[in-house]
Amino acid sequence: MPVPLPTATTRWRCTLCGNLTRFDVTRSSRVVEYVHLDLGGEPSVEETEVLAETVESVRCRWCNAVDRIELVDRPGAGAAGGDGEGNGSTESAAGSGSASG
Ligand SMILES: [Zn+2]
Repeated sequence: MPVPLPTATTRWRCTLCGNLTRFDVTRSSRVVEYVHLDLGGEPSVEETEVLAETVESVRCRWCNAVDRIELVDRPGAGAAGGDGEGNGSTESAAGSGSASG
């Protein structure tokens, strides 16, 4: 069963318990690692390039349900951006030309 991947506006939600935040993700990836060995032969990976990546299963940390997830909207991602109508400058220009003196 393919796992739906979250996007910029959606997130995972466990359909059984409602968990939104904690999952065990089984992921298979194909990567190229730049391995740099020191003179003693001790390797260290200095760069990793991900060629392909697949989420195989997602398990809920709360109820241990596997692949029982759905996509829901992230908070604040529902409305289209930029609905703020101005920074409250409702001052009306009154009293033109008040000569002081
Ligand atoms: Zn759950």
